[in-house]
Amino acid sequence: MNSRRVLPPYRVKVVEPIPFLTADERRAALADAGYNPFNLRADQITIDLLSDSGTGATSTLQESAAALGDESYAGARSWFRFRDEIQALTGYPYVLPVHQGRAGERILFASMLKPGQLSVSNTHFDTTYANVVLAGAEAVNLPCPAATDLDSAEPFKGDIDLAALEQLLAGPDGSRVGVVLMTITNNGLGAQPVSMANLTAVRALCTRFGVPFFLDAARFAENAWLVAQREPAYHGQTPREIARAAFDLADGCLISLKKDGLTAIGGVVGLRDEARYAACEANLIATEGFSTYGGLAGHDLERLAQGVREVLEPTYLHSRADSTARLARLINDAGVATVAPAGIHALYLNAGRLLPHLAPHEFPGHALGCQLFLDGGIRCAELGSLYLGGMDEAHRLVTPAPFELVRLAIPRRVYTDTHLEYVADVLADIAKDPERVNGYRIVAAPPLLRHFKVRLAPLSG
Ligand SMILES: *Cc1c(COP(=O)(O)O)cnc(C)c1O
Repeated sequence: MNSRRVLPPYRVKVVEPIPFLTADERRAALADAGYNPFNLRADQITIDLLSDSGTGATSTLQESAAALGDESYAGARSWFRFRDEIQALTGYPYVLPVHQGRAGERILFASMLKPGQLSVSNTHFDTTYANVVLAGAEAVNLPCPAATDLDSAEPFKGDIDLAALEQLLAGPDGSRVGVVLMTITNNGLGAQPVSMANLTAVRALCTRFGVPFFLDAARFAENAWLVAQREPAYHGQTPREIARAAFDLADGCLISLKKDGLTAIGGVVGLRDEARYAACEANLIATEGFSTYGGLAGHDLERLAQGVREVLEPTYLHSRADSTARLARLINDAGVATVAPAGIHALYLNAGRLLPHLAPHEFPGHALGCQLFLDGGIRCAELGSLYLGGMDEAHRLVTPAPFELVRLAIPRRVYTDTHLEYVADVLADIAKDPERVNGYRIVAAPPLLRHFKVRLAPLSG
């Protein structure tokens, strides 16, 4: 076996300082933030793993392209460069630029979903779910059964449950299904990839029942990389070929380009159908911007056009996947379980298992996230009962989430393996004495999108 390290295909040219607070300063900062990491200031954080969205580093080629950005109101050079790249990537003739993914969701669903209809998915992303509901429709998640076994090493736990999808389409509610939307990779369920076999079967079912099939493809390149590694029929194919094969199966796509677009902002809707394009375009012009910029500046379109090329480079995807897998091994060796197998854009810590002394209503995932900040200045997001649990009016937990997880999202091209080793070290210290981690209780919470604005207090330990 070749034991040489896999190198990132770039070196660092411009650096940004990161803050180091003392333990006392971190304690005070977290108390001021109401024990909610979303309320922390970025300059209080040493390693920020809150999100991989819009947080990646750009390249010299992206920044030099940005200098060429054409800011003409209509028909800018930068628009045509962007459009050509998206058409080459997806094969879709109609391309609508939007400022970020959720604007595309709103615009597409307004033309596609009617009140009472269903959107069916392997798992809807949270804003996708919200936009389905805002369109008056209902969101149905049908993850495959393997997704709920956090420890199983099955390669494609992001797949949709095909039997359940067929049953729904053939059953009494089948006529209500307005779209089948496959999220690749499945961000809501452990960053797990979706197999091409699953997408092919979804295509066949959608054709048979006459239902539009769309991709929510924020991580189109990372899904393609994992397909190349894990699905034998695709060994040896390039990420671009596999991504294109996935887009070929669908009728259109939504893409938040803040992820695999390798930029801070941007999104796109891709369509095959001209009439649907016309409906979406009118909405785009009314709410986002003219159809050749859609809420983006010319310099953004230039960075994006270059970003969607760079993200498909096998050397880049290889090193990113290797780096995440290596972090997973370090964390597992320290005695902390992560959702298996490791994906690419994030690792999900099994906080429920690490902190059995905390009940779900004491929010073990949130407690672990807070401890990572207190001990090491690391910020991450809870995906457990605080975020997903059902609560009564007094903010008491009524229905716990199925799992108590913490997501470590890994920004693209930002942190070195030394930074990630530091994260594993801080976790290892917590794992040596997990009982010192205190639980939390809710002090105040808004009625909607609780996790962003909730305020908590530590339970005295
Ligand atoms: C980020 C994301 C979105 C929403 O995109 P924004 O750019 O954040 O508005 C939708 N779907 C998936 C799968 C995402 O990861």
